[in-house]
Amino acid sequence: MALRKVLWAILLVLIGGLGLAKAAEAPVPVFSTATGKDKIPILMYHKVSPYIHHGGIGLRVTPDNFEEQMKYLYERGYRTITLDQLFDIWERRETPPPRTIILTLDDGYQDNYLFAFPILKKYGFTATIFLVCERVGGFNAWDIRRETQPHIKLLSWQEIKEMQQYGISFQSHTLTHASLTTVDPKIADTEIRLSKVKLEQALGAPVNFLAYPYGRSNKSVEKMARDAGYKAALSTCVGKNDINTNRFRMKRLGIRGNTDLEEFAWLVER
Ligand SMILES: [Zn+2]
Repeated sequence: MALRKVLWAILLVLIGGLGLAKAAEAPVPVFSTATGKDKIPILMYHKVSPYIHHGGIGLRVTPDNFEEQMKYLYERGYRTITLDQLFDIWERRETPPPRTIILTLDDGYQDNYLFAFPILKKYGFTATIFLVCERVGGFNAWDIRRETQPHIKLLSWQEIKEMQQYGISFQSHTLTHASLTTVDPKIADTEIRLSKVKLEQALGAPVNFLAYPYGRSNKSVEKMARDAGYKAALSTCVGKNDINTNRFRMKRLGIRGNTDLEEFAWLVER
C-alpha cells in the first residue's frame, strides 16, 4: 500500500514536471482563448438621473445605483479604458489585462455631466459618450417626436469640453439619431459620415467609433460605417467582445434602471 502511494507520488511529480516544461517551452499565447472571463464587457447606459419624470427604468439608472455599480467595479479591481485604447491594444496583437471594462453612455444627456461624471471622477474611471451631433446643447428631439420618452436636456459643448479634458471620450451617435436601417440609404450615409467630420471639428479629436441609434444596423449600414473611416461600431447585441468579434457589430451589456447589483455582477463576471 505504502509502495503504491510512493509510486503514485513519483508519477505525479513526473507528470507535473512534464507539464511545467511544456508550459515554459510553449509560446505564450498572444490572445486568450475565447472564454467569457477573457472577453471585454462594454456596458451600455443612457440616462443617469434621480428624476422619475426624466423617464422610466428602461433607460434611466439612478445615481445611487450607478454609484453602487462603479464602487463594485472599483473594489473588484476593474479598470476602465476607452474604445481607442482597446483598439490600440488589439492592433498590437495583445490582450487587455484581466478586469478591463469599457463604460458607454448613449445619447449625451446632460444628466451624464450632472450625476455620472462626479461618480466617474470619484473612482478614477473613464467612459465613452455617444453624441447626437446636431442635438448637442438641445433636447432629445428624436424621442419627443415619437412621444416615447420625456423631453430631456442634452449636454452642452462646454460640459463636453470639461469632461473631455478629464479624459471622457466622445464618439458618434449620428447627426439626428436616425434609424439607419429605415431611412433612405443616402440619408443614412450622411448621418454616419457627416457626424464623424463635424464631431471631429468640434472636439478637436478623432472620432473612430459609432453607436447605431436604436441598435439598428444591417450589412449595408455596417459597410457605410466602415467606408466612412470608423474603426468599429457598437450595437445593442448582448455579449462581450474579443479580437474576433465583428468590429461593426460590437456587443454590449445594457444596464437598466431595474438592474440590481446581483444581476449587474452576473452580467459583468459571467
Ligand atoms: Zn440612442
